[in-house]
Amino acid sequence: NVRVRFAPSPTGALHIGGLRTALYNYLFARNQAGVFVLRIEDTDQKRYVAGAEEYIIEALDWAGITPDEGPGIGGDYGPYRQSERRETYRKYTQHLLDSGHAYYAFDTEEELDRRRESEKAAGNHNFRYDATTRGDMRNSLSLGPNETDRLLSADTPYVVRLRVDPGQVVHIKDRVRGDVAFRSEEVDDKVLMKADGLPTYHLANVVDDHLMEITHVIRGEEWLPSTALHVLLYRAFGWEKTMPEFAHLPLLLKPTGKGKLSKRDGQQLGFPVFPLDWGQRGSDEYLSGFRETGFLPEATLNFLAFLGWNPGTEQEIFSKQELIEAFDLDRINKSGAQYDFEKARWYNQQYLISTPAEKLAPRIAHVFTENGYPIDEEAAATIAELLQERVHTLAEFFEQGIYFVARVGINDEKTARKKWKPDQRPTFEQLKNRLAGIDRWKADRIKEEAVAFMQEKGLGFGAVLPILRLAVSGTVNGPDAFAILEAVGREETIARLGEGFN
Ligand code: GLU
Repeated sequence: NVRVRFAPSPTGALHIGGLRTALYNYLFARNQAGVFVLRIEDTDQKRYVAGAEEYIIEALDWAGITPDEGPGIGGDYGPYRQSERRETYRKYTQHLLDSGHAYYAFDTEEELDRRRESEKAAGNHNFRYDATTRGDMRNSLSLGPNETDRLLSADTPYVVRLRVDPGQVVHIKDRVRGDVAFRSEEVDDKVLMKADGLPTYHLANVVDDHLMEITHVIRGEEWLPSTALHVLLYRAFGWEKTMPEFAHLPLLLKPTGKGKLSKRDGQQLGFPVFPLDWGQRGSDEYLSGFRETGFLPEATLNFLAFLGWNPGTEQEIFSKQELIEAFDLDRINKSGAQYDFEKARWYNQQYLISTPAEKLAPRIAHVFTENGYPIDEEAAATIAELLQERVHTLAEFFEQGIYFVARVGINDEKTARKKWKPDQRPTFEQLKNRLAGIDRWKADRIKEEAVAFMQEKGLGFGAVLPILRLAVSGTVNGPDAFAILEAVGREETIARLGEGFN
């Protein structure tokens, strides 16, 4: 029975790479009729950021990546917030101390720094606390039981470290990377329990994956080196037989393909690398999100699914259900995935085109309202129909369609100058009056009247339409001119024609 987990640390806004990790876990769970767990890894108090957990939950909710178990959801393996599981970690640390797989270390930060400095002076730049150095340090292995007991009863601050014995080979079977091997000499005696009594990521992560009966660990490639330590921990606990399978997801690369995608890339290049907007109180850090930029969650998921996975066919548009059916851990790529924002826009455009206008309407109404122009859903549906093939994001419905709700003036001066001859003024005055008097304000009827007028005056479309468009919408681009006039409404159209070309 497959059980997977998404285990973010609430240290800030969830990066789009994190959302991809969540998605792959979710798709795999659904594909296998398994369970998708959300676990909040919040034991690092120094890096804890208020509001980050809420952000993560809201982002998952927006994207439709719904956990089966987690904080606020419940489940048989809770609590799902690590800060609420301190007793458990203490208990399992004690097991390791009792079995000799872990030891107390009393070295202060200053002592460790001093040691690092003296090693550096001797030409060794990487001091490691491991089997070769632990003998010179202040820990229960070097001090013996009596001194250890004395220090403990004197409340001397300590950490607990894993005792990594040399000479072991660690094999990791990774569903993406294949077989990876490490020697235990490459792993130092990592801290498991910090001086504040809280576990490190490594301990809490392994204990929880075991207790929550996680069958597959699907996470970013940056965790691959830690996996050697994790396997040693499973060994130390005697849990190796039920160890989860691993799948390390490829890095997300900059649009150029060179280097890891960073949040600064998004800020510099003007595209979001976060699911939702994030503005941190007390700091001026502002990050823009896919949601606020006007992406549909379905399109965002489709885009993310293809950042590191492909179905092996030509098909690119996949509904969530189709993704669930097609998803396969063995089709995840090894090489980094280039973050191509234009591709994200393309996906969103495809979804905007294929979504019925009345379904887009509430979202479009929301965008206009947010921008200070409340419109009802009927008006929004009309705008949806007219613009859905021309935009890439929900935000662009407003940016491109502001003339539906406001007099914007002519933003296409060049065309205006070319097309507009002041001596045509009387002609357009007449056209305005003709349109003002028609019986039915519908695109076909407006067109009929305009065409009749042009024929009477011997004018072609090219002489009339651009000017009509400019006067009403401020631009010569856009959907059918008569449909725009209908949507803008009779009174407003006439008013704009009246003030258009003075
Ligand atoms: N808390 C870790 C993170 O923030 C989890 C890594 C893992 O999935 O093991 O990414």
